[in-house]
Amino acid sequence: MEIQVSGEGLQTVKGFLRRQEIPFFAERGRFFTLLGVDLEEKAGALELLIRGRARNGERGEKAVALGVKEKTFPQEKLSVPASFDRIDEATQRRIEREQQQLNRIWATSSLQRWWESPFLAPVSGGVTAPFGLRRVVNGLPRSPHGGVDLKASLGTEILAANHGQVVLREEFFFGGKSIVIDHGSGLYTMYFHLDEFHVGKDTQVRRGELIGRVGMTGRVTGPHLHWGVRLNGARVDPFELLEATGREQKAESSRQ
Ligand SMILES: [Zn+2]
Repeated sequence: MEIQVSGEGLQTVKGFLRRQEIPFFAERGRFFTLLGVDLEEKAGALELLIRGRARNGERGEKAVALGVKEKTFPQEKLSVPASFDRIDEATQRRIEREQQQLNRIWATSSLQRWWESPFLAPVSGGVTAPFGLRRVVNGLPRSPHGGVDLKASLGTEILAANHGQVVLREEFFFGGKSIVIDHGSGLYTMYFHLDEFHVGKDTQVRRGELIGRVGMTGRVTGPHLHWGVRLNGARVDPFELLEATGREQKAESSRQ
């Protein structure tokens, strides 16, 4: 969701959620930020502390109470032959290494913001596995689905959801050929199971630029795009990001 702060002579605004700094961006005489909570966040109250400084040096602080509501995600029960599900020790170590590599990315935040509203969906297909889906395989619950699976045939063009920098381009055990784009200020999008890469690591990309093609690399049963979003470390629903940044666009165009 978007949070806005405005006030006479405001020069800088910072937010803090559980001591984690939440960047605010200056735009047309106001400050705004995007806030999202992780899909496994417990229902309850969260406090966002907002600190502002005016041009005359005056400082102000305000605590805003945010309510996190319970949300039930869909569940899917699957049975697979035990042999299909077996992972040897070397693979297990590889999976952990790859997870750590991603976690190190989420733990960092570029100071600059490259993204601009709106974000766009990287492919136009519908959703085959929704955000937060809980899979129970052979009676054992797996970690919830941290992104959305978008329907697309092999070779479909994948477009960058927004401007940013490619900070990861690797072949992972689960994700297959994977790309992560850093959009700046703690906002990342990820693209898994690619057939081909069309960008290199560390390249700057523009919104809508071709970054790869849909494939079925990694642990998948068919071609699709897994699209995920991290916002200040939290796994958020990519469609909520589209909605949160798309509304502004609409408001803007109606003003013209
Ligand atoms: Zn997925």
